[in-house]
Amino acid sequence: MATEVAPATEDRRREELDGVLMRRALAAARAAGRLGEVPIGAAASHDGRVIAVASNRMERSGDATAHAEMLVLRRAARVLGGWRLGGVTLAVTLEPCPMCAGAMLQARVDRCVYGATDPKKGADGSVYDVLRHPGGNHRIEVVPGVMAGACGALLTEFFRGLRGDAR
Ligand SMILES: [Zn+2]
Repeated sequence: MATEVAPATEDRRREELDGVLMRRALAAARAAGRLGEVPIGAAASHDGRVIAVASNRMERSGDATAHAEMLVLRRAARVLGGWRLGGVTLAVTLEPCPMCAGAMLQARVDRCVYGATDPKKGADGSVYDVLRHPGGNHRIEVVPGVMAGACGALLTEFFRGLRGDAR
């Protein structure tokens, strides 16, 4: 006999998967920081499994579009065999910028989970309102603030290190 999954159980599973994704994104961010990149990471899941992980690599590739989310969208598209990423959850350690928010809308991802907010470029309302703009024809479910403390601390430490603060 088929047992129905209670909505609460479904929510919890989703939360668990969001946590798994964010931990992968955080690990990628940390690795990027060690290579001198601004430590931002992203990961994508589909059907409950992780299908792509990437980190910011603007410096290494000399490419202003090489944000973690853009690279994850490209990898996920290769895995799923096309640009339409319905059913995909993308987790990223920092609130997406307008470029990445726009790309997520173009790719029609289902959900965007992010950690820290970005008061300088954030496109989920911090500066721009792209991710959840009411005029858009595609709706993305947005889950902000997942492991925000760890995500933000990574960035704070990185920039502190760049300034060479030993104060
Ligand atoms: Zn971006």
